[in-house]
Amino acid sequence: MTLATTPTLIPKPTPTPTPQSAAAKANLAGMSLARLREYFEARGEKPFRAAQVLKWIHQRGVTDIQAMTDISKSLRDKLAADAVIVLPTIVEDFESEDGSHKWIIEVASGSRVEMVYIPESGRGTLCVSSQAGCTLDCSFCATGKQGFNSNLTVAEIIGQLWWANKKLGGFDGVLERPVSNVVMMGMGEPLLNFEPVMEALSLMMEDSAYGLSKRKVTISTSGVVPAIDKLKDFTDASIAVSLHAPNDALRSEIVPINKKYPIAMLLNSVKGYMASLNDKRVPVIEYTLIAGVNDHRQHARELAVLLADFPCKINIIPFNPFSLSDYKRPSSTSITNFRQILQQAGYTVTVRTTRADDIGAACGQLVGDVADQTKRSSRHLARRDVIASSAGAPR
Ligand code: SF4
Repeated sequence: MTLATTPTLIPKPTPTPTPQSAAAKANLAGMSLARLREYFEARGEKPFRAAQVLKWIHQRGVTDIQAMTDISKSLRDKLAADAVIVLPTIVEDFESEDGSHKWIIEVASGSRVEMVYIPESGRGTLCVSSQAGCTLDCSFCATGKQGFNSNLTVAEIIGQLWWANKKLGGFDGVLERPVSNVVMMGMGEPLLNFEPVMEALSLMMEDSAYGLSKRKVTISTSGVVPAIDKLKDFTDASIAVSLHAPNDALRSEIVPINKKYPIAMLLNSVKGYMASLNDKRVPVIEYTLIAGVNDHRQHARELAVLLADFPCKINIIPFNPFSLSDYKRPSSTSITNFRQILQQAGYTVTVRTTRADDIGAACGQLVGDVADQTKRSSRHLARRDVIASSAGAPR
């Protein structure tokens, strides 16, 4: 369902909290508890300082080392000489008619990436980006059409949560925990930027930082099997799998990484990760429903059979159109039929409500401004121009 038809764009340039300077200094904003403890120990300081610094940065929103008043003046001076607290800069802030926000941040590579905040009754979800662009090219995804520029650093990933808290009054007590859920489902494939994403996840779930429950922090992956296989050694966050098709032939068209890591291999790898969690969580299967492509009743039946031995929840995401795609949004009848077939087969199924599409922030629509290094964006633009000119040519 499209919630708004009249675009309402409210650009609000926002200054960065600290200048992007002193690149040679350590950036405390991008360090997990373990890394900060190592940092202090290496300098002959007590490791408990790490938790103190995390609380200042991630619970109080402080970016000035001298403002950390429970740390002695001499240590603050020492820290200030050796380290900085640098977060990405927010360059635009769009507010949807439905209360969602899209913030655009500028990262060190010069690219602009997007994050989205979706408020709902009793919770607030932040959709976080992990890369400027994406090396993969899923056919339903605007980010994929942009090509790829760079991986985000830990500070640039956790900085999105920091900024959401700052913007929503989480640091000054206006709102208690405005962001209750994080999904690594913004721009990029999180498991192709593995170490920085893992370190940012640990900050999200660390009690001295954001303290989010492992159940409320979700990694969404298109299926980078070797990374899923090693995930259990780094995190116990929840996982969502971008499946989008019930068989390999169709999935390889929609999610090209499937040619390398086909469905059976992917589901087996996810099963292994779930077994390591030692609790009752199940993965979410994301299925973007595209009119005439993967939304037939037969696809739903095939999906029900495919997942028969794979405990999971299924989240149907009706395709959200964007300019570089010829795909169409499915009809409400085909959404209902698809959901009912799966429910009758015994699955828990949700249909994602379209949010924030008036600000180009609905699922699959994130684009940012990426200095593409892959030439993929120009290929997609050229293809669109050919289609447009042939459509306008006399027959
Ligand atoms: S869906 Fe995810 S993995 Fe696929 S192109 Fe888009 S950002 Fe990349």
